[in-house]
Amino acid sequence: MSRTRPAPRLEAISSARVEQLDRPWLLVPVGSTEQHGPHLPCGTDSLVARTVAARVAARLSESGERVVVAPGIDYGSSGEHEDFAGTISIGTEALRLLLVELVRSASRWAGATVLVNGHGGNLDAVRSAVRLLRTEGRSVAWVPGGPAGRDAHAGHTETAMMLALRPDQVAMDRATAGCTDPLPQVLERLRREGVRAVSPTGVLGDPRGACAAEGAGLLDGVVEEIVRRLRAVHVDADGMLARAETVA
Ligand SMILES: [Zn+2]
Repeated sequence: MSRTRPAPRLEAISSARVEQLDRPWLLVPVGSTEQHGPHLPCGTDSLVARTVAARVAARLSESGERVVVAPGIDYGSSGEHEDFAGTISIGTEALRLLLVELVRSASRWAGATVLVNGHGGNLDAVRSAVRLLRTEGRSVAWVPGGPAGRDAHAGHTETAMMLALRPDQVAMDRATAGCTDPLPQVLERLRREGVRAVSPTGVLGDPRGACAAEGAGLLDGVVEEIVRRLRAVHVDADGMLARAETVA
């Protein structure tokens, strides 16, 4: 459980309060609605991204940063999972456009927008949107909303994090090993033929043996890393790029 005070959620505060915050950071969780094997809910990526964004925001606001969390984007680019019921994909193009317009609009009042991405399939859209927005001079960046370099999908990592967050939504008795080949080895086929061709259960990794304590530690690590990165680009009240160590 987070020990810090929650940061304001945009949907729960007034425009006047946003104005008072005077060009706050805006964190936008970007998730997906897609199959996560027979044992995890379709909203896994969205829940992880929202949780990470909220905890990062709480940490930053505790140290005096002005920060707001936006409602999450719960649909992403999940075409490779569409063989499985429950998946709803809007595809790379639609997601890219959504992100571009969202950030353009938010830039009217947000000091900087950070996309917290919880789904690997969104990366093309996220990267391309952020590149375009930065050439337009917008203050925007993205961060990975999950741990790097671990099993890819509905495996040990995501199962552990879900056991930490919502054990009631995890069916460990249905958890079975999926394709455990390293992702780079199967990525090409996965993109071409879909996840089912690589893993009939939709799992990439092995969820058995995952536990809540490990998941809580993984989430803490992700939050720490994002906080560290965001503090390293601190901009002071006069708009000056400050040295990271001057931030509380
Ligand atoms: Zn996932």
